[in-house]
Amino acid sequence: MRIGVISDSHGDIALMKKIVQAMGDIDIYIHLGDFVNDAKRVFKGKKFYFVKGNCDLTNDKEELVLELNGYKFLITHGHQFNIKFGYNNIYYRALEWDADIVLFGHTHMPISIWYQGRLFFNPGSITYPRGGSKASYGIIEITDEGVYPNTYDV
Ligand code: MN
Repeated sequence: MRIGVISDSHGDIALMKKIVQAMGDIDIYIHLGDFVNDAKRVFKGKKFYFVKGNCDLTNDKEELVLELNGYKFLITHGHQFNIKFGYNNIYYRALEWDADIVLFGHTHMPISIWYQGRLFFNPGSITYPRGGSKASYGIIEITDEGVYPNTYDV
């Protein structure tokens, strides 16, 4: 299974479409907020999930917990866990849900950390990279051997 992960697209529909092309075969798309309307437009007709970010004035959920391919995912934008100031809050949230894989955005900086058997993955922002990072998106590949997260430059 290949999961395409995009965050913080901030309205760039054309770029979103380009990235969907570049991703190749994807089973499920996930948008991690800011702006969820981009996801609703570009992923229409595909299988996708999304959570709203701090810039989304919609009534969508801020947190999703779902099982994909036998792994429990915690999906969130991350602002409500003060992710820009550290990982403690999101770490404890992951413990509360007993999530295997935690997806978040908001910092506009990609990061992929395995910690105590759980994956914490931020694909970065496709439009406004920060902290010296490049604009990026993610693909998580799940095979019989395990979980393989990767980040790709836009
Ligand atoms: Mn944000």
